[in-house]
Amino acid sequence: MTQNRFGRAVMGLVNGLAYGGVLQAGPVVPSSRSPEDPQIVLIDTDGLHELAHVHLTGPSKGWWPAGPLISRALIDLHGGDGETTGVVTPYGDQAEATLEALRDIERDGGPSAEVGTAHRFQGREFPIVVFDTVEGEHSRPLWMAKASRAPEASDWMRSGVRLFNVAMTRVQTRVYVIASGSRIREVARKAPDSPFGQLDALIGTSGVRVLPAKSLITPPELHVPRGEFGDRLAEVLSRHVEVSDVDDETMFYASFVAAIRSARTSLWLWTPWVARRVRMILPELRAAVDRGVRVTVFVRDPSDQLQKKPANLSLVEDLRAVAHTIVPMHVMHQKIVVVDERTVMLGSLNALSQSWTREVMVTMRGAYFARKILTHEHAEIFARPPKCPRCGQDDIEIGRGAKENWYWRCYNSRCPTGGGNKAWKKDIDLWRRPGSESASGPPGPPRVGPPPPAAAGTSVPRPRRT
Ligand SMILES: [Zn+2]
Repeated sequence: MTQNRFGRAVMGLVNGLAYGGVLQAGPVVPSSRSPEDPQIVLIDTDGLHELAHVHLTGPSKGWWPAGPLISRALIDLHGGDGETTGVVTPYGDQAEATLEALRDIERDGGPSAEVGTAHRFQGREFPIVVFDTVEGEHSRPLWMAKASRAPEASDWMRSGVRLFNVAMTRVQTRVYVIASGSRIREVARKAPDSPFGQLDALIGTSGVRVLPAKSLITPPELHVPRGEFGDRLAEVLSRHVEVSDVDDETMFYASFVAAIRSARTSLWLWTPWVARRVRMILPELRAAVDRGVRVTVFVRDPSDQLQKKPANLSLVEDLRAVAHTIVPMHVMHQKIVVVDERTVMLGSLNALSQSWTREVMVTMRGAYFARKILTHEHAEIFARPPKCPRCGQDDIEIGRGAKENWYWRCYNSRCPTGGGNKAWKKDIDLWRRPGSESASGPPGPPRVGPPPPAAAGTSVPRPRRT
């Protein structure tokens, strides 16, 4: 079998996986490429923290912000060179998130980016392909990491190999693979014959290049060596996301305050800080409420399940006196602000720097992406805790169970259940609710803001370069 479409690096990769070595390079397949023109570019998401955190939308699927962000910049970069990009991913939720991020920057101009699942893109091809695997460093291994043709592999694992191949072979000139480098190495050690194992084996060969995503997302004043190609991509990325340097918690706090002051209609805050620091933003929250901003705060519950610390309980009371909705969460690490359902600030990101301890805050503007973050943080559902049916009070916190299920729990010390292990608990139903059309997410309350997303796989106009 002779194929002319994709170059040697991709051919080498898929040959071992699916064709049993039968593919031969056709006459037009370039035999070598310069290091500045690699055929496969692995965009390694390690170190992106919050941005590369996978939000599960089912037991073995999900989405992450890293994909839309990087895809958007790549589409823009290649669009400027007149090349069309296809973004392919295993999951409908990820395709949808990417489409929404693209809509936020869409202006006029014809469609030149298509986004869809690997299933949808069978038989298609594009000059540039972004293969967004949704495999993060600190997230559980999903479909692409578990893809395998080993004798003991399930049908699902086998179909993962097919999907991987479909994604990789849509390309004509360059494929970008967005994935955690450490996840790829970890899979490669255990299963060298798996798709990630084969990809790992190609790293270091000609035509394959690794670009650490954290070198792209750095404060502007920080100079990071990343090569000409990396510099171009970082430059394009900087038009889509603002990266501000926040050396310590005090600066983080200052960024949060600036965001709170900019709110006009609504403010959603996830604040993983200690009580003392959260209390510092109370006057800012009060001022926001006074000018008509609806304020919802998720605050970390730093105590254990059995012994509530009085300091935290009084913090919740203080916050309740100010903001509309306060929900303690037992598990929270994210630093997120969503302002007016248009601006998202994500924190807790270690930037590449001398010390490796610096943090940055990433700001993304756009109503579609903001809605996506709110939906996937389950903001609307989590902001509506029920009353405890046993004590009738609203001292309800959110906890997370062993199976990564979320639940409501009563923490009222006078609850007749006696609290502790006997406290009233109820699973929060996120995946399927009466009347919902899909199992992929909650329908939520009536929306203001942008219209609902169209089905994944739609063309969107190419973002205009500024
Ligand atoms: Zn109760």
